[in-house]
Amino acid sequence: MSDRPAAAPTLFWFRRDLRLGDNPALVAAAEAGPVAPVFVLDQALWGPAGDNRRAFLVRTLDALRHATDGALSVVDGSPAEIIPSLAAAVGATAVVATEDFGPYGRDRDAAVADALAADGRELILIDAPYAVRPGSVVTGGGTSYKVFTPFFRAWKAHGWDAPMPEPTTTWHPLGRWELPAEPLVDIDLPSATEDAAHEVLDEFLKARVAAYDDDRDRPAIEGTSRLSPYLKWGLLHPRQVLDRLGHSAGEETFRSEICWREFYAEVLNNRPDSARSAYVPKMAGMEVDDGPGTDERFAAWAEGRTGYPIVDAGMRQLLAEGWMHNRVRMIVASFLVKDLHLDWQRGARHFMRHLVDADLASNNHGWQWVAGTGTDASPYFRIFNPVSQSKKFDPDGTYLRRWVPEIAHLPDRTIHAPWTEKSGSPAGYPGPMVDHDVERRESLDRYDRLKQNWA
Ligand code: FAD
Repeated sequence: MSDRPAAAPTLFWFRRDLRLGDNPALVAAAEAGPVAPVFVLDQALWGPAGDNRRAFLVRTLDALRHATDGALSVVDGSPAEIIPSLAAAVGATAVVATEDFGPYGRDRDAAVADALAADGRELILIDAPYAVRPGSVVTGGGTSYKVFTPFFRAWKAHGWDAPMPEPTTTWHPLGRWELPAEPLVDIDLPSATEDAAHEVLDEFLKARVAAYDDDRDRPAIEGTSRLSPYLKWGLLHPRQVLDRLGHSAGEETFRSEICWREFYAEVLNNRPDSARSAYVPKMAGMEVDDGPGTDERFAAWAEGRTGYPIVDAGMRQLLAEGWMHNRVRMIVASFLVKDLHLDWQRGARHFMRHLVDADLASNNHGWQWVAGTGTDASPYFRIFNPVSQSKKFDPDGTYLRRWVPEIAHLPDRTIHAPWTEKSGSPAGYPGPMVDHDVERRESLDRYDRLKQNWA
């Protein structure tokens, strides 16, 4: 036996990288000696998350505890207090974590780094939840990209590292397990293990990516990857996805969708204020309704009883699955903002509460893109027509019939449109709460009024 003193463990702080494979921060920690793994249950993040997301996280942490041979600790409290006290307790000189680029995460990490430094310890941030680190792809003028297509080109040219194998790790358990009971949810959660994430990826690459280019916009078809919750929590890193893509049309399009996630992370990193306010400042003055009756309008939208079948189908899918098809996310978001004239942030909060994949950058910038306050180059003129979108992307009404059974008996010809007074509603399904053509005009009028103030 060696008489060298055993190396003090490194504290490894898991956050949004809940995996052992392709985890460069974990590799660095493991190279330094024993690793004490911890996840901090931070009420600032746990509080606003909905039960769907909480339940998925609880299952993921349970699985990670098994994967670390029972060594993972979950500690409830404030990271700026817990991390320094755990580091001191095990004598760790360094705490290692994957860098976080969200506004809250950055401030939290600065506070933790300060608290550690006061005690002579260091917070070492390595890697990112993205293939390309936010801030590292910039325009020729050195500024952050504001438009997706040139960012996509530059992002591809920049490239990314190959995935790393799982390190051989000597785990050092801290023996704390303060994970709350899993909230009861009545949705079928995706299986929350690293292996399951790879199985979902394998299956998508084997069976669906070839047709992704055509199928991804058809909500009735299981045509997309369903990887979003895994990418959100880092059960899978985007490098592990990108590494397996070739150059067929489906794979090219899929790569660009992965890039949208990276683009929104870049935008939020560059403009942390855009999480909660208009990315294009002059759009902040857009009139939104907030007076009497708006709560009822919001509730009708949230519960899927607007009388517009595609909107109701999407909102019901969200409640039933904790997920909604991307095409329909755009349609329902446009309806809330441009037909009901409600603030996009109300809708974004509702999504954050129900989506298992809820992610601040992708969600709030997805909303801003649709609301015309964000990175879309033709902001306010894009007003989705819920009936023509429905006809185009769900032509035979399969998606509508699945989620709005009250109208399932209707023929393809009439199923997409809201009911008129003359035709009368099918039992139990409401007539339209607004007239799309009228509200579309109203939205454009509000935009015109806003523009007059810019002069
Ligand atoms: P796929 O089509 O298989 O795409 C693969 C991956 O690419 C996704 O898992 C996701 O990580 C990324 N991606 C695809 N499209 C987008 C996009 N438009 N923006 C950013 N990333 C994308 N995505 C989230 O992960 N979390 C959110 O909270 C979220 N909120 C959204 C809100 C609105 C209003 C809109 C319009 C889009 C939102 N998206 C969000 C993007 C997109 O709808 C989902 O990523 C996608 O539906 C997830 O299903 P999938 O994994 O099967 O997607």
